[in-house]
Amino acid sequence: MLICDTHCDTLHKLNAHPGQPLDVTMERLRSGGVSLQTLALFVGRDPSPDAVQKHFDGMLRHFERLKGEGWTQVDDPRDAVEGQVRFMLSIEGCEILGRSVERVAEWRARGVRMAAITWNYVNALGTPAKENAKDGLTPFGRQAVREMARLGIAPDTSHLNERGFYDILDMGIAPVASHSCCRALCGHFRNLTDDQLKALFEAGGYVGLNFYPAFLSDDGRCTLDTLADHLLHMLELGGEGMIGFGSDFDGIEEKVPGLEHPAHLPALFETLARRGITGATLEGIAGQNLLRYYDRLDPR
Ligand SMILES: [Zn+2]
Repeated sequence: MLICDTHCDTLHKLNAHPGQPLDVTMERLRSGGVSLQTLALFVGRDPSPDAVQKHFDGMLRHFERLKGEGWTQVDDPRDAVEGQVRFMLSIEGCEILGRSVERVAEWRARGVRMAAITWNYVNALGTPAKENAKDGLTPFGRQAVREMARLGIAPDTSHLNERGFYDILDMGIAPVASHSCCRALCGHFRNLTDDQLKALFEAGGYVGLNFYPAFLSDDGRCTLDTLADHLLHMLELGGEGMIGFGSDFDGIEEKVPGLEHPAHLPALFETLARRGITGATLEGIAGQNLLRYYDRLDPR
């Protein structure tokens, strides 16, 4: 079974917190059967242009080193191969674009195929959910999103606020939410409302379920069944064919017991099967649905 994960912060952790133990390692990805691991280039804790550039340079240096150690980069999820581990780059927080739409193509040339419009800072493109729900995309934000879609980069609405999310849909572009959960099951501002999820699925978007307990239940207490609850809720809202995993490993302090790193994924699959998520639905969630999203965004 092809398994894809649309978000982890491993490159950020390597660059910002050297020496800290990693959740995501090649050994664990192999053991968990992961075929495609998306690696986020995260804006970092200082959004000033010089600091962001320095952080991105550092994360890319780590990625080059890892490629020297045998990590293989792909610039299309459809190049993932079952039984092998591949890596794809994403951006989390578009501060790195500055105010230059030309820079979108530069990142596409480096293999970036997913870009979160904001992290938790207001930036030149839009406003995060952490700030408010009402301020939409800026004119530059719209221009950048249009350019992303043209180049086959999925605009990523995880962290973005509601107005910005609907602005993208209103442009006729189906975004992803690479690491987000259901607001109906956990009231965190980062989570998507039922209306957002329905609109996203109708448009042909994609949601990767975040494994962070604080996004999964209001008291932060979860089991693997809580993850199944969120996926089943998305399925009820029309998410068949459009959902998967966005673990957020190496970006989350707490873990769901029994799902501390990628090698534990088989336990999640057992739980999903026990909850009735089987067959083509399970294979879709594991990885095929992400490939189908790219078929819609960027037909080959
Ligand atoms: Zn994030």
